[in-house]
Amino acid sequence: MKKYAWLFVFLVAFGGLWYPKLGLLLIPIMLLLGFLGFFSGKYWCGNLCPHGSLFDRFMLPISRSKKVPSFLKSRTMVVLVFILFMFGLSQRIIKAFTVFGEVSFWDKLGFVFVMNYFMVTIVGTLFAFFISSRSWCNICPMGTFQVLTYKLGKLMGLNAGSDKKVTVCSIDECLVCGKCTKACPMELVPHLEFAESGRVESEACIRCGVCVESCPADVLALSKLNDRREQSVSL
Ligand code: SF4
Ligand code: SF4
Repeated sequence: MKKYAWLFVFLVAFGGLWYPKLGLLLIPIMLLLGFLGFFSGKYWCGNLCPHGSLFDRFMLPISRSKKVPSFLKSRTMVVLVFILFMFGLSQRIIKAFTVFGEVSFWDKLGFVFVMNYFMVTIVGTLFAFFISSRSWCNICPMGTFQVLTYKLGKLMGLNAGSDKKVTVCSIDECLVCGKCTKACPMELVPHLEFAESGRVESEACIRCGVCVESCPADVLALSKLNDRREQSVSL
């Protein structure tokens, strides 16, 4: 999925300009990522998201790879973008429903989603080029949506057993080289975070596993809390 999900961006964001019904595919996708968010936070962003796949595959090698400005990561900005996005989307959906029952309805509704996807593709790609490959992911409304459902899942105790987080298997073997932190596309600091709890607890973590792959000591893993408990028991 990580390798080829970007094809979906071209299908919907560009193909949808000629065949607007393609935008309707985004409805089950939005529901699915919200559902997955309950159990595993922003897992979708790091592993299944077509835009994420596009940014990782094509934008990472050519990105200027600058530090994401702090205002772009601020809670105010995240909330503002989410509210504006949802407000705009719902307004356009309501407008499309004025022709409900007519032949053109499904095209109009699909086009609402196509245009949203198209705009995210343009803005996200510009961010990826001028800032860093995953800079858009800090404010992406779908990422925020997952964080919200994740919080709800935590509140309801739904994700304690299903949530995979970056976990340090043996902290004594960590070289404290910081390579995991340097490689993190979300600018998190795994090597400082797990020093406290043994896990990366940040809700901004997209579970991409890049830090795991970049660790020279091979002491990181994406694992569930239960797996960790089992490991400690067996040790
Ligand atoms: S890359 Fe591995 S060894 Fe280096 S600080 Fe991170 S966890 Fe420790
Ligand atoms: S901490 Fe690791 S898994 Fe989480 S976003 Fe950073 S690189 Fe990806």
